[in-house]
Amino acid sequence: MPDADSTLLVASSNKKKLAELVEFLRATPVTLRSLADVPAIPEPAETGATFAENAEIKARAYSSATGLLTLADDSGLEVDALGGAPGVHSARYAAPETGAAGNADDAANRAKLLRELEPFAPIRRTARFRCAIAVARGSEIVLRAEGRVEGFVINTERGSGGFGYDPLFVPLGHKRTFAEMTSDEKAALSHRGRALRAIQRELLRVLA
Ligand code: IMP
Repeated sequence: MPDADSTLLVASSNKKKLAELVEFLRATPVTLRSLADVPAIPEPAETGATFAENAEIKARAYSSATGLLTLADDSGLEVDALGGAPGVHSARYAAPETGAAGNADDAANRAKLLRELEPFAPIRRTARFRCAIAVARGSEIVLRAEGRVEGFVINTERGSGGFGYDPLFVPLGHKRTFAEMTSDEKAALSHRGRALRAIQRELLRVLA
């Protein structure tokens, strides 16, 4: 049984993203906690200009509030033809159109992306998912990692797995969207899987 020191809070309020993080971390000998296991904490404002800054803001805020070692991720889709949008605004991309106060729902975000990309030929629809991960102990960041996966945005949704923009994203060198892959296939290629693999060993050291 791991002791209290090897508890890791995985701080994401996005249930599908949380499931991907937890699935990956399950093999690590650590007691995992989610935000559902701790008293409610106000979500920090994601005011950073980069994925890395936002991941650090979240990791610090939740670790300081709980006293637990905390892992947070910030991620999103960058589309070249749109100058890198939706980028750090991926979760709230369609909020101005839908009137959502915070994040817009995934379907509305995908519909907006398809509208914005209508003028662009398939070859000009290059994009990448990026993920920054930060691990904090109180206000100190003890680990940082980034992962990315290059690909294309297609013009109709395909598949029902994953979340967010997955039904529209085909990784380079592949034919299926992330939403048409199993969770293991997606994890082997994805920005989040890559960022997590980059810190896997270091995480054990930090937890020891
Ligand atoms: P965050 O919770 O502020 O990091 O927002 C991440 C947003 O980026 C999500 O709501 C999705 O719209 C998008 N996103 C990030 N990672 C993925 C992924 O693995 N698949 C599909 N969409 C993603």
